[in-house]
This record gives sequence, C-alpha cells and structure tokens, in this order.
Amino acid sequence: MHCPNCKGNNIGKIGNQQFYCWNCFIELSLIDGVLDLHQVESDGSLSSLNDLFSEDERRLQL
Ligand SMILES: [Zn+2]
Repeated sequence: MHCPNCKGNNIGKIGNQQFYCWNCFIELSLIDGVLDLHQVESDGSLSSLNDLFSEDERRLQL
C-alpha cells in the first residue's frame, strides 16, 4: 500500500480501514477500495484532500 500523496509506504494502521501516512501526516480511510484522504489541521480538525486527486489515483492498487 502506497500513499497517493507522497508515494511512500511509511503507512501505519490506526483503525479498521483507517491508516496514517507518517511521511506527509495525512489520514487515509479505505472506503469500497478507494482511499479517502484527510489532512489533520493543527486544531485537530480534518480537511479533505480528495479534490487534489482523481478517483483513479485514490483507488487502492492490489
Ligand atoms: Zn504520504
């Protein structure tokens, strides 16, 4: 599994279908084989990064 943002594989599992990229500090949720990307803001809120990627880029390559 690779992070669509940094292409790294330094990804930790933080929950069922939820992952965290330690390279670029984004949260990845797996929904129906497509990753939902969120950035954790300094105040703890989440902002979606999905707009920055196409669905193809976010689809998990198995
Ligand atoms: Zn990353």
